[in-house]
Amino acid sequence: MKKIFTLGEIVVEIMANQKGQLFTQDGIWKGPFASGAPAIFIDQVAKLGEQAAMISCVGNDGFGELNIKKLQSDGVDISNISIINDQTTGSAFVTYHEDGSRDFIFNIKNSACACINEEMVSQNILQDCDHLHIMGSSLFSKTIFNTAKKAIDIVKQNNGTISFDPNIRKEILHSPGVKDALLFILKQTDIFLPSESEVTLLTNTDNEKQAIDYYLNNGISSIVVKKGNKGASYYSRKEFFDISPHLVKEIDPTGAGDCFGGAYIALIHRGLTPRTALTYANACGAIAVTQQGPMQGTSTLEQIEKFMQQEKN
Ligand code: ATP
Ligand code: MG
Repeated sequence: MKKIFTLGEIVVEIMANQKGQLFTQDGIWKGPFASGAPAIFIDQVAKLGEQAAMISCVGNDGFGELNIKKLQSDGVDISNISIINDQTTGSAFVTYHEDGSRDFIFNIKNSACACINEEMVSQNILQDCDHLHIMGSSLFSKTIFNTAKKAIDIVKQNNGTISFDPNIRKEILHSPGVKDALLFILKQTDIFLPSESEVTLLTNTDNEKQAIDYYLNNGISSIVVKKGNKGASYYSRKEFFDISPHLVKEIDPTGAGDCFGGAYIALIHRGLTPRTALTYANACGAIAVTQQGPMQGTSTLEQIEKFMQQEKN
């Protein structure tokens, strides 16, 4: 069976206990939770029963162990996750505002994640890979960008496909080189998975339709736009459709997009139609926001089907 790979950051997430809680004040913090956008994505792929592997680094510490155990128990191949003795596992602190927006403090660039390098990627490591997923949040250094480039080259040479979720946090967008890196990956992309606010971000237009046309005319075969509590939209040269959202009580939105993306790519990989894959992904994203902790929101096929069935009744 062919494998879906991703590469990028593994972190723990530590979240504010209350909405409106500030980074500058005393407060109660919850966690650590297993996290990192590509890690959540690949955990969701494995939970749906597709072969899944991740290339990453963690420190030789409890935060790394927590993540590795979670990924491994959910079925992710962790043999390409290195444990770096003199580095600590990455972390992200998150606080939520009353209007639903979030602020993050990331410790990624100076963590074990920064040790991800080109030597961790080879024809041999990627021999079973027929799909590679890249998160924009992972392109935080030249070295990791070069690693992603090398992996893309190998997967494309082997006739594999690439999916890309820009997953741009305002905290990293203006870091040197990040925008150029995102544009480069976009050119290699087959399946593009932006949030609604990211649809036009990497084009010269503010018009969503023009941006979609541009992508479809420049090598991208399908685009899935994630719209939070408004559901999602699908675009290809052949068809366009919207998927209505499920009505759920939002507990923790972080990670919903990654669960959604993991479910969509896993089910497309399995050979389902875009409409069916998207129906499951939409439910998977909705379930994710009802769970506290980003990677706690990943679901099995049975859980997604049970949720969809309950909605029908
Ligand atoms: P993030 O900001 O974490 O990167 P994202 O923009 O990548 O998130 P979202 O659009 O928030 O992703 O969520 C992905 C999908 O999950 C949505 O397209 C939708 O299908 C589902 N979803 C997310 N939030 C909700 C919600 N509150 N109610 C119902 N479904 C939701
Ligand atoms: Mg996202």
